[in-house]
Amino acid sequence: MMFCKSCRAFPSLAKGNNLFVGVSGGKIRIKTLQEHSKTSHSDCEGAQAAKVNPSGTPIACVLQKMSENVREKMTKLFNIAYFVAKEEAPFTMFPSLVDLHHKNGLDLGDTYKNDNACRTFVQAIGQSMKDDLVEKLKNTHFFSVMSDSSVDRSQKDQEMVYLTYVEDGKPVNPFVDIVFIGACPQPRHP
Ligand SMILES: [Zn+2]
Repeated sequence: MMFCKSCRAFPSLAKGNNLFVGVSGGKIRIKTLQEHSKTSHSDCEGAQAAKVNPSGTPIACVLQKMSENVREKMTKLFNIAYFVAKEEAPFTMFPSLVDLHHKNGLDLGDTYKNDNACRTFVQAIGQSMKDDLVEKLKNTHFFSVMSDSSVDRSQKDQEMVYLTYVEDGKPVNPFVDIVFIGACPQPRHP
């Protein structure tokens, strides 16, 4: 059986390409390798390189070049975006909060002073928290899943998913996702 180590290390990036699945027998040919190099293989190679040497990735190089001042401003903008999400406030509140900081003597610039930037920051924070959770789960032996659904206003069944596991000797219940199950049948009126 011939398969690609890099691709198997990153199943979500490999998207089931030929050598992620693997070939055997007569299919072990140079042509298979040539075809493989044209698939999602390069993404997996990149991810593998980033894992081995994180400081060598393009994003890390950009961050290193970013001045300390800019980094500080970005951290504060991310904190404001986190606050907006945590308070379940609309993203459109973000520019006003940036203005408030300006009034209090903290100039955060106008580049990201809009609701779209706020959405991007919140999505990045969410992804990072999800990645942290995945890392923690890899180190835990047991976990259980709790879920319950309710029907929203558009008659769609939305399932809330939580996990339970033990962290530092204490049980924790992090929220994982809201999953759309399917449309609910309309209630019949007699
Ligand atoms: Zn590969």
